[in-house]
Amino acid sequence: TLTTVARDTQVFDLINQELHRQESGIELIASENFTSKQVMEAAGSVLTNKYAEGLPGKRYYGGCEVVDEIEQLAIDRIKELFGATWANVQPHSGAQANTAVFLACLNPGDKIMGFNLAHGGHLTHGSPVNISGKYFQPIFYGVEPESGLIDWDKVEETALRERPKLLICGASAYSRDWDYVRLRAIADQIGALLMADISHPAGLIAKGLLNDPLEHCHIVTTTTHKTLRGPRGGLIMLRNDFENPFGIKTQKGQLRTMSSLLDSGVFPGTQGGPLEHIIAAKAIAFGEALSEEYYNYAVQVKKNAQAMAKAFVEKGYKIISDGTDNHLMLIDLRSKDLTGKLAENTLIKADITINKNMVPFDDKSPMVTSGMRVGTAAMTTRGLLETDMERIVELIDTVLMHHDNDAKLATVKQEVNDWMKQHPLYS
Ligand code: PLP
Repeated sequence: TLTTVARDTQVFDLINQELHRQESGIELIASENFTSKQVMEAAGSVLTNKYAEGLPGKRYYGGCEVVDEIEQLAIDRIKELFGATWANVQPHSGAQANTAVFLACLNPGDKIMGFNLAHGGHLTHGSPVNISGKYFQPIFYGVEPESGLIDWDKVEETALRERPKLLICGASAYSRDWDYVRLRAIADQIGALLMADISHPAGLIAKGLLNDPLEHCHIVTTTTHKTLRGPRGGLIMLRNDFENPFGIKTQKGQLRTMSSLLDSGVFPGTQGGPLEHIIAAKAIAFGEALSEEYYNYAVQVKKNAQAMAKAFVEKGYKIISDGTDNHLMLIDLRSKDLTGKLAENTLIKADITINKNMVPFDDKSPMVTSGMRVGTAAMTTRGLLETDMERIVELIDTVLMHHDNDAKLATVKQEVNDWMKQHPLYS
């Protein structure tokens, strides 16, 4: 029986090593965060045992009364958080959410237009190595070489010329806000659907600290584990549901709503049974995000990013677009004669985790890169404030300026470890 199963110490020893790594280092990967203990408790619960294909109240399996209530809670809370009228919380990840939208809205070969991966976009917005670029015809817009900003006139020009069926906004490494009003006006001129992928800044948007995409975009997707601080996962939302423009009808001959096409795009379109343990963890995270405490957190994430950007600039680092409106920034290391690869590999020796990143118009390969991306979501969860961001930049600069001095790196690592002990994570 289960009571006699031997504990797998091999795996649990490794999990403990990972806990130690997370607790003792400075985490600056912009797409990461630390969830609460209760979020992890739900993610590790008995709900992992349950099959629940379908939606609350409409399942293909018996015994779903309890998970129905849990999933409905997650739906209700995310709707309240974003002022949405409809949500599907089942996508296993951000990539799954986007793929479900494509399946619901596009036919193979249709044209899609997204933000260039090499300028900070995401793989799922038309990259040739992703299903979005393999099954559909992708075209891209990017940033301007001088300003590092998106020129909306150029986006319009490209969209009018290419006439994509789906226009995608949102990014993985763009530190500025998006003009959703303008994007919707562009989409309307060509009868395109407008989708916003807010995976990165979702938490800041939820608390009104950035422009609201739900008012203007037909469809909004997001991950749940970045600024939103939930378990790893994805979801799709609508503020205003509408009849699909593709003429797809119900058995009774009525035009199907966009929400029903999106539900089908998730299941059975691209997924099987939902992960109800993760959906419970999502419900908890959304409940946390509804709190005043989380609002203060989101405000601090933004303040910290601005303090960090200022500190980098003062040390002579070049930030793409010269600053940030959200939780992240992209730093061009060429002015310091460094590569992203060297920065990532050296900083990790001092227990500071960042990721190397292509910068717009990069002359180096994706495995080397000229830039690094940093974000403040995780360290703000640990309770760090603006002056701490200045200290982090000081430490990063020391490491990068002494990248071949192992003794110096060891000293910084010790300082990082001692400092992080003062900001306990889970213990
Ligand atoms: N969309 C954007 C903009 C992202 O930044 C990411 C993740 O980095 C994703 C989608 C994919 O999310 P996931 O890794 O959960 O599939």
